[in-house]
Amino acid sequence: MSLREIRIPERLQPVALQAWIVWISAVLVIVSLACGARETALQDGGHNWDAERRRMVDVQLRARGIRNERVLDAMLAVPRHLFIPEQERADAYRDSPLPIGYGQTISQPYIVAFMTQALDILPEHRVLEIGTGSGYQAAVLAVLAKEVFTIEIVPPLAERARQTLSALGYRNVEVRTGNGYLGWPEHAPYDRIMVTAAPDEVPPALLEQLKIGGLMAIPVGTVTQELRVLRRTATGTETLSTLPVLFVPMRSKPKD
Ligand code: SAH
Repeated sequence: MSLREIRIPERLQPVALQAWIVWISAVLVIVSLACGARETALQDGGHNWDAERRRMVDVQLRARGIRNERVLDAMLAVPRHLFIPEQERADAYRDSPLPIGYGQTISQPYIVAFMTQALDILPEHRVLEIGTGSGYQAAVLAVLAKEVFTIEIVPPLAERARQTLSALGYRNVEVRTGNGYLGWPEHAPYDRIMVTAAPDEVPPALLEQLKIGGLMAIPVGTVTQELRVLRRTATGTETLSTLPVLFVPMRSKPKD
């Protein structure tokens, strides 16, 4: 038998071999990528934050009547877990408020969505927030509005919120350390004001810094509180809606 007569099986011929090598490499790449992704998820305590956040939006917000798509999209976009201290982070997407240190809390996702929806924020709006806390609500506002000014009375919370917001690239938010009872007159008037700590009455300075026709969401009261959504009119205010709530008290009302 001459050499010519020996037939190399087709699957071992050079072209077929190349195809096999390509296939095997592709499979190896896919397997290693899958292992890498799993490792990243495990390093993060096994959390798939994006999936948890989608579930939060569907189950806690959409199903309970939050209908404004811009608000739902904003809550889908902001990584709530990165505003929560590490020891509480596993519960970031739970249906409840959570401690953020210094005796303060980040609000329950539903309350954030409810207040944000009630303010009907447009892309050209300038918004004032009182009670920065973790900075999470400010980030949600920053996705929806042109500019956000937010005031926090506890200096280390203000500093941490400033760092988180800047690290995540929210460039249209300014955090001030100070007493929000008197507002932030330098940037007034505001289209919208959101208050996330409860005073016993609506602070007059905040009302003065709201545009006529502008909206404010504010929890009011001491033992029991109600969240009021107000519109400033030419002659005073009009209450649009109320909801029973429980916020941390607003501190340091200056003495008359
Ligand atoms: N919006 C926050 C949660 C608010 S908790 C978030 O998204 O995480 C209420 C915050 O209001 C607390 O951080 C508290 O320190 C702050 N606060 C209380 N009284 C205040 C005041 N007079 N001026 C500014 N901030 C105040």
